[in-house]
Amino acid sequence: MQYVAKSVPAIGDTDFSSEVKEASGTNIDRCYQCLTCSLDCPVAFAMDYLPHQVVRLVQVGLKQEALTSATIWVCANCEACATRCPNDVAIPRVMDTLRAMALRERVVEKGKDIVVFHHTFLENIRRWGRQYELSLLLQIKLRTRDFFSDLRLGLRMLRQGKLKLRPPRLKDVAGVRAIFRRIDQSLAEGERT
Ligand code: SF4
Ligand code: SF4
Repeated sequence: MQYVAKSVPAIGDTDFSSEVKEASGTNIDRCYQCLTCSLDCPVAFAMDYLPHQVVRLVQVGLKQEALTSATIWVCANCEACATRCPNDVAIPRVMDTLRAMALRERVVEKGKDIVVFHHTFLENIRRWGRQYELSLLLQIKLRTRDFFSDLRLGLRMLRQGKLKLRPPRLKDVAGVRAIFRRIDQSLAEGERT
């Protein structure tokens, strides 16, 4: 399959670039655009900018382009790109940082489906320690009030056992919740400074 992606303009805001580098702990300047990340990304077909292009957007400080890109929400944080990058550019951490910035700066609207999905996904992990797909699905349906669009797919997944009726059992749910509490605290401290 051939990738269809936007070209990257070369203008921008250097403060944005520094902020992403610092918050993600990733030196994106090391990226020399070899494309390995984009060729290995399993969801590249659904992205508007490919992973190496998002890195370039950040390098050249194109904040609006980066924060409004569909790619930052399509990325599944699978780490395939980070594992293969010859320069140790941690793209999943860059994507996390961009998502957090987009939410903080209200670049995406509060009630938008992708934001609902993002929050519900994280709430579920906080509650169960890992993802509980059936609960995720039902909560998203309730919150978006879109009850029928994927009904057939949902029923098929249920029949094939891909949606488990019972929630997952994880020994150390308390440990996962403690991680979330630490993140909440550091975000609150960040907002105060
Ligand atoms: S694999 Fe690494 S160096 Fe190559 S384009 Fe992607 S981020 Fe840049
Ligand atoms: S972490 Fe995101 S960008 Fe990297 S390969 Fe996985 S889905 Fe693609």
